[in-house]
Amino acid sequence: MTGKRRFGEAASVERVKITHPDKIWWPEEKITKLDVAQYYAAVAQHILPWLKKHPLTAERCPDGMAGECFFQKNFSEDLPSGVPTRALPAESAGEVVHYAIGGSIRTLLALVNLGCIAVHVMNCHVDTLDDPAWLAFDLDPSSGKFSDAAKAGAVLHGILNELRIPSYPKTSGGKGLHVFVPLKHSPNQEQVREFARRISQEMVDRSPELITVQMSKSKRHGRVFSDWLRNAFGQTIVAPYSVRRRQKAPISTPLHWEEVDRSLEPSSFNLLTIEHRLKGKDPWADFWRNPQVLPNLKLTSPFLSC
Ligand code: ATP
Ligand code: MN
Repeated sequence: MTGKRRFGEAASVERVKITHPDKIWWPEEKITKLDVAQYYAAVAQHILPWLKKHPLTAERCPDGMAGECFFQKNFSEDLPSGVPTRALPAESAGEVVHYAIGGSIRTLLALVNLGCIAVHVMNCHVDTLDDPAWLAFDLDPSSGKFSDAAKAGAVLHGILNELRIPSYPKTSGGKGLHVFVPLKHSPNQEQVREFARRISQEMVDRSPELITVQMSKSKRHGRVFSDWLRNAFGQTIVAPYSVRRRQKAPISTPLHWEEVDRSLEPSSFNLLTIEHRLKGKDPWADFWRNPQVLPNLKLTSPFLSC
């Protein structure tokens, strides 16, 4: 750890105790656990609006990106007192999950202290579970090439533009692309998911060689999977500005549509480079001022009546 100050057994970030702060989480870049805690503290104003009142899932990697990682949504015991949790119904009937509820830097850093690298978030507030705050498209290129996700993103952007629905792209931090649409109250989870299904089907109809809605990986044949099933209670997506457990510590970064280009390299937005980008214009600056009522597709667009 040349050139890096050592912090010993514990450090404090925003008055939250970070144990083993010098632990290396990215060996190549020598990024430590403390670096991640300090990153989240530095981008608090950017990330917290996405987490506020939303149930969270933590992707925990106590030994860093190269070690074993797991998703945790049930936090009945692990979190320090004062971190809000809420018992919500689990997917299996009759059971409950004690979700951490986001919104404060204290909660976020308490998760980091437990080894959380990436923060995943549900699409709804804890008090209004059937009232999604956004619609999300998760475009997964089976080829592993971001350029394919970018091409599928352009098809999606075209369809949403025709319907006059503004949409907001971000890197997943992996090879894929996420596209969000802010929602006004009214459509419930079921209606939002149905809308996402129809739009995804239209994407396939327009570009069958490029895009698929096949859940089975063996049937995707190198195409981009448009995962409309992300839109449901209990499903999560990685929050904008979350770090990812991948080489170079990439960050799920909001983009301008003009940037969604075949030549874009998602890992160029990472923990070591993001500060510069945050000085520029926020591509999603008007997101919360732009909530949408989803159109009745049957009435507005005959091609989407499937
Ligand atoms: P990529 O670009 O590599 O696809 P991604 O974050 O979109 O990155 P996906 O595998 O497509 O990764 O998953 C989409 C989202 O589904 C994740 O961000 C996460 O919120 C959720 N998810 C995926 N796998 C799990 C899991 N095992 N447990 C809980 N949530 C998961
Ligand atoms: Mn994905």
